[in-house]
Amino acid sequence: NADIPRPVLDVIARLRELNHAVYLVGGCVRDMVRQVPPKDFDVATSALPEEVQRAFRKVIPTGIQHGTVTVVQGGTHVEVTTFRSEGDYLDGRRPSSVAFERDIVKDLSRRDFTINAMAYNPLDRDLVDPFGGQTDLQAQLIKCVGSAFERFSEDGLRPMRAVRFAAVLGFSLDSATRDAIPATLGVFRKVALERVREELVKLLLSPRAEGGLVLLVETGLLDVFLPEVARAAPEEARLARAAVQAAPAEVEVRMAALLADLVDRNQARDIGLRLKFPNKVADLVALLVETAKLEERFSDPDPALRRLLARVGLAQLPALLTVARARIQARAPERSAELERLCARLEALAAAKPPLVAKDLALTGGDIMSTLGVGPSPIVGEATRFLMDSVLDDPALNTREALARRLKDWHAARPKA
Ligand code: ATP
Ligand code: MG
Repeated sequence: NADIPRPVLDVIARLRELNHAVYLVGGCVRDMVRQVPPKDFDVATSALPEEVQRAFRKVIPTGIQHGTVTVVQGGTHVEVTTFRSEGDYLDGRRPSSVAFERDIVKDLSRRDFTINAMAYNPLDRDLVDPFGGQTDLQAQLIKCVGSAFERFSEDGLRPMRAVRFAAVLGFSLDSATRDAIPATLGVFRKVALERVREELVKLLLSPRAEGGLVLLVETGLLDVFLPEVARAAPEEARLARAAVQAAPAEVEVRMAALLADLVDRNQARDIGLRLKFPNKVADLVALLVETAKLEERFSDPDPALRRLLARVGLAQLPALLTVARARIQARAPERSAELERLCARLEALAAAKPPLVAKDLALTGGDIMSTLGVGPSPIVGEATRFLMDSVLDDPALNTREALARRLKDWHAARPKA
């Protein structure tokens, strides 16, 4: 009980005082049984939502129609949900109805996996485990509550969650649970890709991302939302997974490590958008995919590397180096030393703060117009590109005098229309 925050215990004690049944449920019970610190504590109770609202001074009706209210207690938020059961699932996504229940076992029986279907009352140290969650935690198994085929047919996201929990916890899939996945892919196909992506991200950021990706391929799940990876040649797919595993756990970096050798920049961006990643994330993944193959640049001269820095942007350089290192580690570890030399060169060039974008130029747009004696016109953009190109070749040229001279020469030599 030492792990349980005071405000959570206070909420439980208050509901108990009013003679309601009350338990911690879901992930926090699983984590406490495994003896790892839970991320968040969910409370379930027989009290109806209105009763919960009346029992506390400050409550937010977060999802009152589903029975969830947030109690603000001791400066923290505690989610309290009324025991419930679910009516039939009609569309593979959500139940047609929910009913409030008095019995914790009814509530636990709607949950996805045995290890997630335990409840614990810390006041009388009562662990409710009707489906063998402790046994499956011991055996390191992800097993559906009841018939896997039925549970996956109800809610198409569950197979993805099964694989995600397997990766995050380092567990295996129970064989019936695993066998039910290919048989229910039609339901999985109906799930919103945004929800699939949330599970994918948790899988990718887990310490067993590689094994999780293998399971996604073997069960047929990956082909539904990432056919570009699922259908890659087996050896290429294996290398891509190894690169993911070698990369630090950041979403853009691991996505880029997965995709860099399987798709091009535009496909990477399309994949990001299809999976409903924020635009910024999709753009960064695409940029990293475009530039990750640093072994192609081992003998690039400084101006070419400065152009790469300009393309990537200094802020994204660390992410690029990280993806490049993960790829080399997976694909050609004997070239790591060469890659490190290139990384050091890129970092040294970046540290010199060279002009990389138009606003770094010693001449402004206004300066260009007055030097050339023109007003706003397309020639200003052309001149800016010319000057940018000059300073990328040689940053020492980035002074007002040197740029003005070059600008005049360029203008004089320009064919007149
Ligand atoms: P995490 O540590 O990743 O948050 P969690 O077990 O808390 O793990 P959540 O997605 O937060 O996972 O869900 C909380 C609980 O709600 C689960 O433990 C499970 O009991 C139940 N649950 C969540 N999603 C489903 C689902 N699709 N079908 C059935 N039960 C679910
Ligand atoms: Mg949770």
